[in-house]
Amino acid sequence: MSANWFKEKSWSISGNKANDSKHLASTNTIIYPKSTQDVAELLASNQEAAVAVVCGGHSSSNVATWACFSEAAGKDDSYQDDNTIILDMKNMASVTVDKKLMEVTVGGGSTFRQLAQVCADAGGALPIGTGDTVGVCGYTMNGGLSGYFGKRLGMLGQRVVHMEIVIADGTVKNLTPESSGEDGNLFHACLGAGSAMGVVTSLTFKMEAAASFSTGGSIVVACGNKTSAEPFLKRALQFMKGSVLPTSSCSMEIVIVTDFTVIINFMFYDTFTGNTSSFVQQVRDDAKACNVPIVADDMSSYKAWFEAASSLWDVIAGLKGDPLVRVDHCIGTRSLPSDEVLDFVIDTWVGDYIQKAPLSLVEIRSLGGVTKEGSALPSGNVNALFFADMIVSYDGSSVSSQEKSSIMEDVHRIIVDAKKQGELMVDFSGTHSQSDDPPELLAKGDEIFGSQDNYELIKQTKHTFDSTNRFRFHPFAHLL
Ligand SMILES: Cc1cc2nc3c(=O)[nH]c(=O)nc-3n(C[C@H](O)[C@H](O)[C@H](O)COP(=O)(O)OP(=O)(O)OC[C@H]3O[C@@H](n4cnc5c(N)ncnc54)[C@H](O)[C@@H]3O)c2cc1C
Repeated sequence: MSANWFKEKSWSISGNKANDSKHLASTNTIIYPKSTQDVAELLASNQEAAVAVVCGGHSSSNVATWACFSEAAGKDDSYQDDNTIILDMKNMASVTVDKKLMEVTVGGGSTFRQLAQVCADAGGALPIGTGDTVGVCGYTMNGGLSGYFGKRLGMLGQRVVHMEIVIADGTVKNLTPESSGEDGNLFHACLGAGSAMGVVTSLTFKMEAAASFSTGGSIVVACGNKTSAEPFLKRALQFMKGSVLPTSSCSMEIVIVTDFTVIINFMFYDTFTGNTSSFVQQVRDDAKACNVPIVADDMSSYKAWFEAASSLWDVIAGLKGDPLVRVDHCIGTRSLPSDEVLDFVIDTWVGDYIQKAPLSLVEIRSLGGVTKEGSALPSGNVNALFFADMIVSYDGSSVSSQEKSSIMEDVHRIIVDAKKQGELMVDFSGTHSQSDDPPELLAKGDEIFGSQDNYELIKQTKHTFDSTNRFRFHPFAHLL
């Protein structure tokens, strides 16, 4: 039963687990709470059990969904782990809106598709992530960032005005940014390390007016191979560094896919005063100078926030595998990246895995802006101005065991190399790192939570509210 549940619920399987056949036995204790009261009663009545909470099931390390496989599996196939409860939050997926206050409230199992639709209908905008099936709570509680909207709208966690959370002993807490003392610490800690603190049953966000988004679009360049892509990417990254990173009125995201098509997305906000087409002319000139063809060019394809917010939903739905295997990593800088960093991105970050794992992509993002001005959430994501993630992905049924291991070796080698680049932050993110990587590759607490002070506060808060570590199925298990 739970192996099927894992297959249905996990968006992908971690590349680090793709060759794992040890986990044969499983627990059947999967519960579907319908209300906060259900969650509170369950936690209060069975104080010994460890608890895994699953919202969208998109964690690249399968941190919570993997809990359906027992640690003792492989030793005894009939073993069932009765001491781990999985809470699948899918029945708590409500979204309600208060138009007057411009606030929207989601239940603990809501996904971005539901939130985006309600938000757009209410004339609002939020810095949501790109995937429609990603869990709103899983994203927010791990410091989720928005490459499209973050520079104007900040991070979603910075927009939380109310949080309902059930802590380890079953107590329900209602927290706001004004909460003080230990509750204030809990509120702050939850916005970067919340998956380690309790079961979030509801979050309320302050929306911005939809008019905060002006327009957006993309230029698509079919480079064909790495040799042709390199000179163009060099120029595109210089454009990002010189013209986009220093301003907060627009953002740029460069996506490189395995056939070396380069998709450059631009988003312009109400604060942008120039002409969008003229602004991006340099990119067109660079493609021409490098002799790589532009196959699509429309700077005003997105006329409204919802169109931009939902623009990748169809593309993401097409990423399929049996299973889809995936590993996520990221690098970033706090200030303008040096030319050495940009070279590293092109030469090394866009690595050989890209051909072996044909659903892979690299996304190079401009962040900062309002995010840097807002409350300093306890997530390394807050600190990044320049951000590049590497999503390595392939259909597990079409790749041999040997190739799977070889892909992981390539990826791990790149992370080791990245760590040697003094200027780079590496895997500093709860949403874009691979917490089941070998321990020597994992980032330290001050990096992943944004500062040593945040790390200390999170450790202390974890001890106060979950001293027996009931909530241990999260990306920070090696740190807390
Ligand atoms: C297609 C795709 C697009 C993505 N786009 C972005 C993006 O644009 N920006 C970005 O930052 N990230 C992005 N991500 C990464 C994503 O934000 C993280 O993987 C996130 O943690 C997924 O949350 P989830 O609820 O879907 O996953 P889950 O695996 O269900 O949960 C992840 C973690 O959060 C915990 N959790 C979930 N719900 C609750 C709850 N109600 N209470 C307590 N703990 C909870 C779980 O226990 C687990 O530890 C994307 C991922 C995918 C696959």
